[in-house]
Amino acid sequence: MKPETAAIHLSNQVNDLYQPVIQPITLSTTYLHGESSLVYGRFANPNRASLERVMAALELGREAAAFSSGNTAGMAVFQCLEQGSHVVAPLDMYHGLKKQLLEVFRDTLAVTFVDMTQPEQVRSAIKPETSLIWVESPSNPLIQITNIPLIAQIAKEAKVRMICDNTFATPILQNPLTLGADMVMHSATKYIGGHSDVLAGILVTKEADEFWQSIKTVQAIGGAVPSPFDCYLLCRSIKTLAYRMKGHCANAQAVAEYLHQHPLVEKVIYPGLPSDPGYTLAGELMRGFGGMVTFLVKGGAKESDRFVQSLRYFSNATSLGGVESLIERRAHVEGPDSKSPENLIRMSVGLENIADLTEDLASGLKTLGK
Ligand SMILES: *Cc1c(COP(=O)(O)O)cnc(C)c1O
Repeated sequence: MKPETAAIHLSNQVNDLYQPVIQPITLSTTYLHGESSLVYGRFANPNRASLERVMAALELGREAAAFSSGNTAGMAVFQCLEQGSHVVAPLDMYHGLKKQLLEVFRDTLAVTFVDMTQPEQVRSAIKPETSLIWVESPSNPLIQITNIPLIAQIAKEAKVRMICDNTFATPILQNPLTLGADMVMHSATKYIGGHSDVLAGILVTKEADEFWQSIKTVQAIGGAVPSPFDCYLLCRSIKTLAYRMKGHCANAQAVAEYLHQHPLVEKVIYPGLPSDPGYTLAGELMRGFGGMVTFLVKGGAKESDRFVQSLRYFSNATSLGGVESLIERRAHVEGPDSKSPENLIRMSVGLENIADLTEDLASGLKTLGK
């Protein structure tokens, strides 16, 4: 089954007297002993089972586990690492997960942050007690592309597991498991949900090994699982994921090219631009460059804020991956300890008509010249 077909057919399993075409939402938290293969809603639910089945298929993995957010999916991984072990993670890492390593796991895990685009830095950061290399590619917010196969090889040689946050690419554009990763993580809140109305996270594993069993235990006993309704919404969204990603990629490419030639834009970071350092690698690893564009405008915090707030179709809000375009100045969102430049703007390019989007940016950029 090709991804478009799997997305539609594996997200839907009907086991019902009335034979509806679409799987109903099963709200029951408990099941008849001896008559059902299910026992209790925290352990398994039919809507969650469909979500996990389709995500495992799309990521070409063995099994998937759904969580109540991307952060709880990531946290399940960190909770299953041996106490006192060491993690190698990217400097440009989703700030919420970075904060977990620095604060929640401060006393239980050691961490070294490296530039993941420099494989030698990864190699030299590995210690005898290293238990995990965490990769995020493309990364947030700098849209850096990591050489996943090379990092996977380094991980294999050191006998360390490697897990990739694939949120920006989605399984439509990149499959880290086929590039050597042991596990994939998604914030399904983003493109997988795609409509900015569900929080969820997913892990997909290559092997149903002992480490995976401990993740499943954290899921079932910890209980940070998505509701049946959230799973239903996600399955509904996944059916159009491949087509939404095509639209996001096309619009982001056009927006990036427009900004690239604009005199009031200092720099555009988008792997689909031949001038971008990630261009060649992204072309090898991905089937499209994604819907996220980061750029630096000519001006400081005040001018950047005025620009961002002047737009009509780009809502000034955090998050990404929805059908509507969003824009934000990262330093404003990340707070006083942010390392993002004051004029760095991150954009999630939505599925509006591209002429409306470029016209909106054109009139917004005029405010910079004032
Ligand atoms: C949003 C995001 C997360 C966290 O996911 P939540 O669903 O917000 O908990 C993790 N990684 C990346 C790359 C993200 O964009």
